[in-house]
Amino acid sequence: VITIMALATAARDAERVEILGVGVDCVDMGLAMARIEEFIRSKQPHLVATADSSGLVIAQSDPEFMAILKKADLVTPDSAGILWAAKRKGRKLKERVSGVDIVARLCARSADAGYRIFLLGSAPGVAETAAEKLRLRFPGCNIVGARHGYFPADSDAVVAAEVAEAKPDVLFVAMGIPRQEKFIAATMEIIRAPVAMGVGGSLDVFSGKAKRAPKIIQKLCLEWLWRVLLNPKKFGKVKTLPKFAWLVLREGR
Ligand code: UDP
Repeated sequence: VITIMALATAARDAERVEILGVGVDCVDMGLAMARIEEFIRSKQPHLVATADSSGLVIAQSDPEFMAILKKADLVTPDSAGILWAAKRKGRKLKERVSGVDIVARLCARSADAGYRIFLLGSAPGVAETAAEKLRLRFPGCNIVGARHGYFPADSDAVVAAEVAEAKPDVLFVAMGIPRQEKFIAATMEIIRAPVAMGVGGSLDVFSGKAKRAPKIIQKLCLEWLWRVLLNPKKFGKVKTLPKFAWLVLREGR
């Protein structure tokens, strides 16, 4: 059994590219979805994270977050900066695999497969509105709970018990990086959702509170610029981009 586990770990590592100490899975959307559906079938808890440039910069000075990313079952490449860093290491990744896109795909699949989905995070009312809109957009999508994400970390276990009662197959946590990953790591053995995934501002997008950039801007890899123009508070994130670039260049190939 130990040999099989070691082989499985080795196989997984071979499909990863290491960027600033984090193994990012070399997956496109199709492969990421296949892995996630495998997790759901396994019925065992899994943590899925999306890696973007600012998240990896945060991880450099947050050992707890770094340890969570290193242990994550799937880390998707979620920014133009990550694709660039992977390419420097000889791994040409096809596309970004973002939290928002995975939420939409899994809600669409939920309608056929019956996956039970829980939405946790964002300001009071947002998760509920997002649930309503997702049900309209993907008729039959099985959202079994929605709750806001404004509670102190010392209430994690209480909120986890509430979520566990809904028996979700998929838990989306939209509380921002790295809080959402820390919540998942601290509670995954209580909630035991086969997939628990941090999805940042996704519920704001599905509720209609935030708008995604037009496709053309996404294609030009300028979604970050669009976000900053609409919400200057996001500038804090963009500020980390030069640091990310510098760290990647320093790391070498
Ligand atoms: N949020 C939350 N609880 C908190 C702090 C933030 O639920 O204690 C929510 C916030 O309302 C927003 C999301 O977390 O919906 C963070 O979105 P952002 O786009 O900043 O996420 P990231 O950039 O980390 O992906």
